[in-house]
Amino acid sequence: MSFFKKSIYQQIKIFYLPLTALLLTIFILSSNLYISQKVVLLLAIALLVFIHWDVRDGGMLSKIIYSRGGTFNQRNHLTVISAFFLTTVILAATNSFHNPLVILYCIPIVLSSLRMGSRMSIVYGFLLSIGLGIHYYLMWLVNGIVYSDAYLYTIMFVALAAATSLIANRLRRSAVDLSALYETGRALNSLLNAKEIMALILNIIMLDVQPDVAAIFLLDKKYQVLKIKAHRGFKGDISAWEEPLGRGLIGGSAERLSPILVSNSNRRTQLRKSPDLKSLIAVPIKVGDDLKGVLVVGKRNKHAFSFENVRFLEALSSQAAISLQNAGLYRRTQKWASLDGLTGIYNFRYFSERLEIEWNRAVRYEKPLSLIMIDADLFKNVNDTYGHLSGDKVLRDLSELLQQHIRETDVLSRYGGEEFTIILPETHYQDAYNVAEKLRQAVADNTFKTADAGIDIKLTISLGIANYPSTAFSRDDLIHQVDQTLYQAKKRRNTLASPLDDACDISIPSEVTE
Ligand code: GH3
Ligand code: MG
Ligand code: MG
Repeated sequence: MSFFKKSIYQQIKIFYLPLTALLLTIFILSSNLYISQKVVLLLAIALLVFIHWDVRDGGMLSKIIYSRGGTFNQRNHLTVISAFFLTTVILAATNSFHNPLVILYCIPIVLSSLRMGSRMSIVYGFLLSIGLGIHYYLMWLVNGIVYSDAYLYTIMFVALAAATSLIANRLRRSAVDLSALYETGRALNSLLNAKEIMALILNIIMLDVQPDVAAIFLLDKKYQVLKIKAHRGFKGDISAWEEPLGRGLIGGSAERLSPILVSNSNRRTQLRKSPDLKSLIAVPIKVGDDLKGVLVVGKRNKHAFSFENVRFLEALSSQAAISLQNAGLYRRTQKWASLDGLTGIYNFRYFSERLEIEWNRAVRYEKPLSLIMIDADLFKNVNDTYGHLSGDKVLRDLSELLQQHIRETDVLSRYGGEEFTIILPETHYQDAYNVAEKLRQAVADNTFKTADAGIDIKLTISLGIANYPSTAFSRDDLIHQVDQTLYQAKKRRNTLASPLDDACDISIPSEVTE
């Protein structure tokens, strides 16, 4: 990374810090201070440069503290204390406690606000005022010196600590929220899976809002209920948790399409599955007025959340809503792209991809895999006799009939025209053979109807079968064999042929040719 691509903060540390130190050194050396004062000041500057010099790990001080197992908080304390110490050294060396140079203490106070937040910086401001107060008091007691602005300074530092820490808190809060939102937005854009989107949202919430529990409910449009889909921090099994629209905190927020903040929950607003949560926020997840779900966070203590938390969750949930919508759209397009328009079962494209996946799985886990190919007999006659419309209906009914006679894990696809395939994962040869025979019988027994349902149509099918590892040792073998056996079956029609039939003149490879 080049120098100018580094942040201003790093630039200051690398370049301007030593430059400033150099200028200060020249200034100190050329001043008319005592030599002892000059030495102390130069040592102080050297220490300052040392502390901040190596910026890659946040300065030498950070490096030393972290290498000793120290925490981020300890580092902040040490940085602030060393800043107070250096300022004191500088003021002492230049004998400046009684002139306006005391204002130099503003630097460590602002630093403490930026680093430690409001409470600690006010504590530091107080400690400084007490220290200075004692100093002025002792000076008056011992030397009889009265410094007229002493009161002003002691009060000023506490006020300054309070003011800067409030501003710093606000700035830090919005900076954290903004960067969290920015990062979330970027990450969400690359996600097309609803589960991953919800997990990411919950992770961000746990880090940023730091609730005891968090959950995402999605709307089931058909039944008008909100179902829990992802959660963090809840005890027990809550996977079947549902909330009706319009009732309670979650249902209320969903119906009103607006967030609800509860600071001390009562019977009406508490969460059914976790009534011990006193502070709650429910935020609708929506695109425009289209409700997708509700985001809920909770904390056990009262008054734990602020309006800023609500605003942050609102921003987050609107990003989540858009991402979830995109994910749904993507899932639906993917699904339509894999389905056959006429029959609604999988198409050839999906069959090819799925066979590849199932083949690899079978080989890797040493599981059997069977394939059945089906061709409707004399289908041209159906079209010629009853018309294309009836032909289409028979194809639809046929695929439905086939689907009814196979397991849910079996994959029925339309291979093309009046041809179908069935992938049977983890199915041995003999079981697949039985399924195929059952299918042949079921179709032969069935009576199809014409498009106007007036006339009965009888139809038969021919089937070919192949199996890994009983008959085929490669994916291409598998396809080749079902094709060949189907061709054999076609000679008689309404027949199931197998590579293991004597009548089938199909060569079975004797070794694995993966
Ligand atoms: P066999 O397989 O028993 O040898 O005879 P067949 O008549 O079934 O074989 P062929 O392959 O000659 O004809 C297949 C017929 O299937 C031709 C075509 O009109 C019909 N077909 C293919 N796809 C569709 C479709 O989507 N709708 C309709 N109605 N018919 C289709
Ligand atoms: Mg055909
Ligand atoms: Mg045919």
